[in-house]
Amino acid sequence: MRCQEKTCANFEGVSGLLRVRYFHAMSETPSVEIIGAGLAGCEAALTLAAGGVRVELVEMRPGKTTPAHTTGLPAELVCSNSLKSNEPPSAQSLLKEELRLLQSPLLACAAASAVPAGSALAVDRLLFSRSVQNAIDALPGITYARREALQPSETHALNIIAAGPLVSEGLAQWLAAAFSSRALHFYDAIAPIVSLDSIDTSIAFYASRRHPENTDYLNCPFTEEEYGRFYDALISADRAASRSFEHEVYFEACLPLEVIAGRGRQSLAFGPLKPIGFIDPRTGRLPFAVCQLRRETNDGVGFGMVAFQTRLTIAGQQSVFRLIPGMAQAEFLRYGSCHRNSFMDSPALLSSDFSFKQRPELFLAGQLCGNEGYVESIATGHLAALFTMARLRGLLLPPPPVTTACGALLRHITLSEIKPFTPSSFHFGLLPALETGEKKKVGKKQRHELLCQRALADFRGWVEGLKAGVR
Ligand SMILES: Cc1cc2nc3c(=O)[nH]c(=O)nc-3n(C[C@H](O)[C@H](O)[C@H](O)COP(=O)(O)OP(=O)(O)OC[C@H]3O[C@@H](n4cnc5c(N)ncnc54)[C@H](O)[C@@H]3O)c2cc1C
Repeated sequence: MRCQEKTCANFEGVSGLLRVRYFHAMSETPSVEIIGAGLAGCEAALTLAAGGVRVELVEMRPGKTTPAHTTGLPAELVCSNSLKSNEPPSAQSLLKEELRLLQSPLLACAAASAVPAGSALAVDRLLFSRSVQNAIDALPGITYARREALQPSETHALNIIAAGPLVSEGLAQWLAAAFSSRALHFYDAIAPIVSLDSIDTSIAFYASRRHPENTDYLNCPFTEEEYGRFYDALISADRAASRSFEHEVYFEACLPLEVIAGRGRQSLAFGPLKPIGFIDPRTGRLPFAVCQLRRETNDGVGFGMVAFQTRLTIAGQQSVFRLIPGMAQAEFLRYGSCHRNSFMDSPALLSSDFSFKQRPELFLAGQLCGNEGYVESIATGHLAALFTMARLRGLLLPPPPVTTACGALLRHITLSEIKPFTPSSFHFGLLPALETGEKKKVGKKQRHELLCQRALADFRGWVEGLKAGVR
């Protein structure tokens, strides 16, 4: 683990820059409380501490846990182990590239715990969390307190709430009472993980889409008849009961498999199970559909079922998913499940630096503020830390330009005019369009390349501007 400690603790980014100019001694610095040692909270804590700010990071696990977390470790990835595409020109690779320019500590930890996943950045989730823990332990200035926070503490100069979509009931009540915001939520589902030993590899084959030589994914190929049997069983299987008072609203990018299946018999074969780019080595032909399994760890013991988020009962998952070719004996290391996912009405409540309009000493970060996704949570955690640090130093930090991934995400969260406000992952649609002339002339891939080039140039300019501003 040594190299991981080094990688993650040795970043400074913009936060380091601000420290050099404005802080002389650690003991003189005011302190910041961060509630929640998830992705946003850990990113914020490491960023602030690297900038010389004393931080108290308050985490309720393992004493009190959430319906989705299973460990007491920080920055636990609750569902997929993928931080999505690393390959330009994609929206997700752009967001990660900007975070790398900021020297994001959590992206450094992700790089140090990566597992092979084709063009995606996927991690060994346990190694990732331990790497984050090591980074926290290695930086002086972070106190890691294990308790539930029922409200922000008044003994700190500033507070950041990064308690995530599964925020504890007590803190959620405090937020609702303090800001009289409508309670907002949607539902998010988790996909199962199965053991490699239990997969029949005489049927399932290694390959990634369009790359038959790649061994990062294991693929279970369906014939049309097998697909039909699987589909019928899925549609009629028992689902975990939802509480009658809860109206289920799902996040479109993370729909349970059975909800997608409900949209039509071919919806899976043309959607998450699409076979394009695969040849079944047994038949030499394109399968009718493919269930992909992605490596969870480098030793390849566990494989996650890609896009198999579900709210089927455990018995339902056992009977239906074992109909997948190659999975008749599947042993489930983790079952899929579905959880309520809370967020605040940020455009109504927050200023453009993530602080509450009514309570400027309190900041919000992570999924609770209305971003969606792991890397987006890291991004809002990092930005909230920079804004917090600027506030401590009496500086006005301009937000990143809206042409950048970070700037566009920030604008969506704090200024979205869509009613009701809906959380968003970062996608190209959040960026302002290219100049009309350019847009007309170019195809989709080239347009994405141009959007990425513009974003990175503007982001570098923003970072350079900050450097010049604090010198
Ligand atoms: C079920 C589910 C599945 C998801 N799957 C994916 C996915 O596959 N891919 C993806 O990109 N995104 C996914 N997301 C969305 C989102 O990216 C993750 O939830 C992400 O972890 C959010 O980061 P965060 O830092 O905001 O919150 P979290 O990472 O959840 O961190 C919040 C932390 O706050 C702690 N906490 C809560 N209340 C308190 C309190 N009162 N006091 C102290 N500590 C507290 C929690 O224990 C937790 O450690 C999923 C979300 C859910 C709910």
